[in-house]
Amino acid sequence: MHEPDFGVAGETAIVTGASRGIGRSIAETLAAGGANVAICSRSMDRIGPVADAIDESEADGSALAVECDVRDRDAVEDLVDETVEAFGDIDVLVNNAGGEFVAPFEDISQNGWETILDLNLTSVVHCSHLAGAVMREGDGGAIVNLSSVNGQHAAPGESHYGAAKAAIIRLTETLAVEWAGDGVRVNCVAPGLIQTPGVAETYGIGDEAMPPREEADRRIGHPEEVADIVRFLVSPAASLINGETITAKGVPPAGNAMSSDDLGLDT
Ligand code: NDP
Repeated sequence: MHEPDFGVAGETAIVTGASRGIGRSIAETLAAGGANVAICSRSMDRIGPVADAIDESEADGSALAVECDVRDRDAVEDLVDETVEAFGDIDVLVNNAGGEFVAPFEDISQNGWETILDLNLTSVVHCSHLAGAVMREGDGGAIVNLSSVNGQHAAPGESHYGAAKAAIIRLTETLAVEWAGDGVRVNCVAPGLIQTPGVAETYGIGDEAMPPREEADRRIGHPEEVADIVRFLVSPAASLINGETITAKGVPPAGNAMSSDDLGLDT
């Protein structure tokens, strides 16, 4: 009988932006599966305790905390070097670090636009260039990028973020083609609303308001639900999935029949 292989034991993974939220859950999930994880955020005070908690848990994988702002290419180079020095190789890269502020397009300054593009898109370029080089020279690997449903459709108030997240989807597809010959699969996850500290700050949705995972009828998710998808995508079970974007947003919006009035038609 065929048994699917969801294993990540013995792999080395870099997870960016792992001091909290989705990134932390991804790091914990991969470590619980036996992967060694190099995790980063902008502050050792915030990322260090996450690595300590992983190392003190029953997870088989070890954790390395690195202070790294993913917008800074030199810092990303150090992250990659420290990971190889600690664990010998890189098999998995999860480009998770990201963020946004909400503002109408006309109120976003050039500096605001560039900050959000640097954080959400150019950081993925830095990490993929530098960690990808190690994967391609070695045995290949798997990259997972975090996009968003706001990169898949209109995102009022988040034009900068939506543009960056849309670009990630196309970059994912292109890299999947360019690097397939080097044994690197590149995929993407586009979450809908996920209850994280970032979302609590932006939308005021606290943990206590969260319906359980078992509930199908919802449009908000838990960080672990994204982490489970990432674990699947980097495992051998996803060997035929390349260049794809997996949307995780709960119940889809219903397609309502529209009247001629709704369509602006004079009938
Ligand atoms: P949070 O705001 O809760 O956490 C963001 C993480 O990224 C933190 O660990 C933060 O650490 C780190 N980070 C921020 N800036 C940088 C930087 N310049 N360099 C390195 N690390 C950084 O985010 P979420 O968990 O909510 O989101 C994670 C990813 O998922 C993002 O890419 C986001 O766009 C995407 N996403 C989230 C959704 C949601 O509803 N939550 C929906 C769709 C997509 P520190 O502050 O310590 O640097």
